Amino acid sequence: MLVHDTVGTSRSQAEIDQIRQSLQARYDELSAEYEQAVLQSQVLRLVEVGDTAGDDQADSGTKTAERDTAQSLLRTILDRRAQYEHALTRLDEGTYGYCEGCSSPIPVERLEIFPSATTCVSCKQTRERRAA
Ligand SMILES: [Zn+2]
Repeated sequence: MLVHDTVGTSRSQAEIDQIRQSLQARYDELSAEYEQAVLQSQVLRLVEVGDTAGDDQADSGTKTAERDTAQSLLRTILDRRAQYEHALTRLDEGTYGYCEGCSSPIPVERLEIFPSATTCVSCKQTRERRAA
């Protein structure tokens, strides 16, 4: 069922190269963002180790919140980077642009907004409902 070329989703090599470039660029950006966030969270930890002595409760609560935020930011960046990595793998396999759930072509408009999307909107919603 991989013959979907009736709706204009079959891509030329040039298009594939272009998609790969933009996915790769975004992947590299996220890698840089991740490194930056790691550095920031390390700074946060150093500050915390440095001045816990004079802390009152409110202060250490704020710091815990800051650290949680930093950690969830790291996770978010890693998740997004993994999505781009996955999209690149699918591009190499020739399945990029097809939904992983129902194998229908993902609308081009969706891919323009979310180049790393590997499911159509309705499969994504089904997954999210299942995960929730
Ligand atoms: Zn689908």
